[in-house]
Amino acid sequence: MRECREGATALLFCPMPTAPNSPQTLTPGEAVARQTITAYTLTPEQMERAHALYRTRVTLSFASALLGLTVLAALVWWRFGPRLQRLAERLSRRRLLQAAVVVSLVQLVLALAQLPLSLYGHRVALAYGLSVQGWGSWLADWGKSQLIMALLAIPIVWGLYALIRRSPRRWWLYAWLCSLPVAAALVFAAPVVIDPLFQRFEPLSDSHPELASELQGLARSAGLEIPSSRVFLMNASEKYTTYNAYVTGIGASKRIVVWDTTARDLTIPQIGFIFSHEMGHYVLHHIYLGLAFTSLLLFVGLWLTNRLADAALRREGARWRLGSLADWSSLPLLALLLSALAFFSSPAASAFSRWEERAADSYAMTITGRLTPGAAQAAAQAFQVLGERSYSYPSPSPLLVFWSYSHPPLAQRIRFVLSATSKDSTGSAEEPGSGQEPVQPPARGSD
Ligand SMILES: [Zn+2]
Repeated sequence: MRECREGATALLFCPMPTAPNSPQTLTPGEAVARQTITAYTLTPEQMERAHALYRTRVTLSFASALLGLTVLAALVWWRFGPRLQRLAERLSRRRLLQAAVVVSLVQLVLALAQLPLSLYGHRVALAYGLSVQGWGSWLADWGKSQLIMALLAIPIVWGLYALIRRSPRRWWLYAWLCSLPVAAALVFAAPVVIDPLFQRFEPLSDSHPELASELQGLARSAGLEIPSSRVFLMNASEKYTTYNAYVTGIGASKRIVVWDTTARDLTIPQIGFIFSHEMGHYVLHHIYLGLAFTSLLLFVGLWLTNRLADAALRREGARWRLGSLADWSSLPLLALLLSALAFFSSPAASAFSRWEERAADSYAMTITGRLTPGAAQAAAQAFQVLGERSYSYPSPSPLLVFWSYSHPPLAQRIRFVLSATSKDSTGSAEEPGSGQEPVQPPARGSD
């Protein structure tokens, strides 16, 4: 039996009021709350599915990266760039419209090449019951994503080429300087402009006043004031069956978002842990740190792109019919170099993200561990439920984790929160911390 503290936060870490639930009507969170979690475990049947899903996803993800690079390399090799440039210049004399033609066509080719893999990815998500999104809605989302990417890429590419034309040697530095406010504006706009195009959001307190006030109390007991206007519920259940929560936005748009699946199926102590993890991202300024880290990668990436593009043009420019980097015809080459560098920087970005995630877990254990001795179990239960629902594979290859895991594997995270129990009582579990990453990677996209 857990000991319960008095006060507003007590309910968070005490058993749920004993509802007359029969075992058949227990939510997944309530069912797991009846067990004592000592490690991340799956039944043999779940394990089989988790392993199959893991293999499929790894294959899909590397196939998609390889395909993107191959298509761009083919565009360079087959001199698609010069043809695009001729077409764009024939259609308009205005640079912005030329950029629109060039960017849209390159993107269209890439999107169509990737479409079969994307379709297969959704088919897998449906087959494993991770998604309930119909094909029509999925295709509409796919179309919207492509449109948004094009609308963002056109002015960015237009500006980039203006810089290359003005300063053929230093363009990469000026582009990097311009990328800082652009990235900040995108992070600011994402939750208020882009995300609502795909999902519905409402203040958590509108439909879950009790949960909202519990979480408010939890934040307050951690010395934080997170206004209820900054805690949102996302209507994820229209599309997904998995659980998630995340922090997004900066400045006035900064917010914590809880998926409605999480709010529906997990117990309040489990959600309390997840919320504390997100509070960790929030108060440890992980979004700002993430932006700074991405900028650092971009600085190196743009410098390298400039060097590599110069070398490529000198050696192969004649064969590829590429005269100067300042011509629209170089776009497939620039995109190829940037994509290749992004692919090879994945281990660094993943390591940084895992560091932030560990810091947020640590923060959450410190916060919740102070309030109740049962906190570690609630945390471990939350991970167990998340893992079972998304068929998270318990023992991924260390090389894969190194390369692409934005979060530590669940088995590790459960071990961590359970081992933090003893430290919690002395309040020494907190690490310096660090993002915008969700507790679990969302089912959609590359968040
Ligand atoms: Zn996180």
